Amino acid sequence: MQVHRTDFVVVGSGIAGLTFALRASEQAEVVVVTKKERSESNTNYAQGGIAGVLSPEDTFELHIQDTLNAGAGLCHEEAVRVLVHEGPRQIRRLIELGARFDMERDAQGNPVLALGREGGHSRNRIVHYADQTGWEIERTLLEATRHRPRIILHEHFFALDLIVHEGECVGVWVWNTHADEPEAFLARAVLLATGGCGQVYPHTTNPSIATGDGIAMAWRAGACVANLEFMQFHPTTLYHPDSRSFLISEAVRGEGAILRLPDGTPFMEKYHPMKDLAPRDVVARAIDAEMKRLGIPCVYLDITHRPAEFLRQRFPAIYSKLQSVGIDMAREWIPVVPAAHYMCGGVQTDLLGRTSLPRLYAAGEVACTGVHGANRLASNSLLEALVFADRAAIHALEAAWSPPASELPPLPSALARHSKLREPATQNLRQQLHAVMQQKVGIVRRLAWLEQAASELRHLVEQARLAMSQAPACVTRWEDWNLALVGELMVQCALRRRESRGLHTLVDFPERDDVHYRCDTVLCPDGER
Ligand SMILES: Cc1cc2nc3c(=O)[nH]c(=O)nc-3n(C[C@H](O)[C@H](O)[C@H](O)COP(=O)(O)OP(=O)(O)OC[C@H]3O[C@@H](n4cnc5c(N)ncnc54)[C@H](O)[C@@H]3O)c2cc1C
Repeated sequence: MQVHRTDFVVVGSGIAGLTFALRASEQAEVVVVTKKERSESNTNYAQGGIAGVLSPEDTFELHIQDTLNAGAGLCHEEAVRVLVHEGPRQIRRLIELGARFDMERDAQGNPVLALGREGGHSRNRIVHYADQTGWEIERTLLEATRHRPRIILHEHFFALDLIVHEGECVGVWVWNTHADEPEAFLARAVLLATGGCGQVYPHTTNPSIATGDGIAMAWRAGACVANLEFMQFHPTTLYHPDSRSFLISEAVRGEGAILRLPDGTPFMEKYHPMKDLAPRDVVARAIDAEMKRLGIPCVYLDITHRPAEFLRQRFPAIYSKLQSVGIDMAREWIPVVPAAHYMCGGVQTDLLGRTSLPRLYAAGEVACTGVHGANRLASNSLLEALVFADRAAIHALEAAWSPPASELPPLPSALARHSKLREPATQNLRQQLHAVMQQKVGIVRRLAWLEQAASELRHLVEQARLAMSQAPACVTRWEDWNLALVGELMVQCALRRRESRGLHTLVDFPERDDVHYRCDTVLCPDGER
């Protein structure tokens, strides 16, 4: 088996992983492993943009306040202050690296960044590249890494588990899918930047890579996780038989789109004073409630009052996607439903990206830094990944972590037994998981459903573990194991929070309870904290 030694190993090549790699490679060697092609990530699909205080009409305090309001009392204010104050510098750094965000002219005719507005933001502060902001950021970061000889990027390398020695994370076990064998990467420190876990649900905006691997690996290695009950459902994904879960960006509502029932009635004024621009959780619950009340499969988004030329230019990807399924958004309403979109919780970190396991950092969607609280404000996640991945890299460079271990701990038993990880997995386990999560751990929850889900998921995790030991393992089966484990942890968190807050709506406890629950839900493998 090949054993590699380097300064830092980064798992994931989205915005968080590449930001860390770029900073750390200024002084050290960095190996990035990524499980598919290098650009395949949630980052690549982000549409709306990245939030930052970049206009004279905006202030840090307003962005902080909007973030705290969305977070429903659970944001860590210190983390939010770091995010908002350091954000603009990080966005400018992206521009220096070559990101081509949309520009416009100010009153004096000078070119300035074109700033959009999204739900929950009290000012225009969304930097964007049409409706393909994530693609442009990913392109920029990948291009920058190409010019850094100290960054070594391995595509189709699937991280299986962290290597832990004497209570510290000393590397990563990786499956090399080209050679079909395991390899060990030993390092001074490891960054988990594996993104989200939307694939735990049948309807998600996340691409297939979002299987919660980082959360599962961290948990198995002994790190604490937090706030996994807060899954954000995006209110508006396309409802169409030929296209599952394509996201219709919040920016469409930012440009004036109105949510309507099939008979044309607008309904958001019943739910929130900001109407169609209310925070995402409010909009998702409102749509869910209207769909249940009327027994309808979807609601509609109407932006037909905007000219076709404007829509084509402002939303080129959405426009052409809709056209490809026969919908002309300039003339027809868009059928939409909510879908799992963003995990606000994750591997618990401090403001330097450190997890509870020494030498293990986490950044981006896999991490829980405290900035999102019980609900993420739109366009704060790309920003969080930039700010905290950079901080983690700076800390990792400054920390005097000892050189990579010379001794390799024994291969985990699940790997030692198997030589091939390629065999296709059965769809069965994932289907069962999806059914449980969809029916019992959705937008609106009940204690009885969660309790049933807990026992069903415990059984599924066991089944997945057994499948790994009885049949040849494969990447998909490993992902299934990770997904089942993440689902189980999500339910454990949800069961501990006996109130309704932000993204967690529990019918049995409909009120927010600040006396008992104004705190994170923290789970640690060695016992609850
Ligand atoms: C459709 C969509 C639209 C969005 N729009 C916005 C937006 O407008 N603004 C905003 O702020 N946020 C948006 N988000 C959220 C945002 O895109 C993500 O939160 C963010 O990109 C996460 O970045 P990341 O680097 O943490 O993870 P990702 O970008 O998801 O990268 C994860 C990386 O880890 C790799 N990986 C995962 N597991 C393994 C493993 N076991 N081994 C090796 N590699 C692994 C993946 O292949 C990938 O390279 C959107 C998300 C989606 C899905």
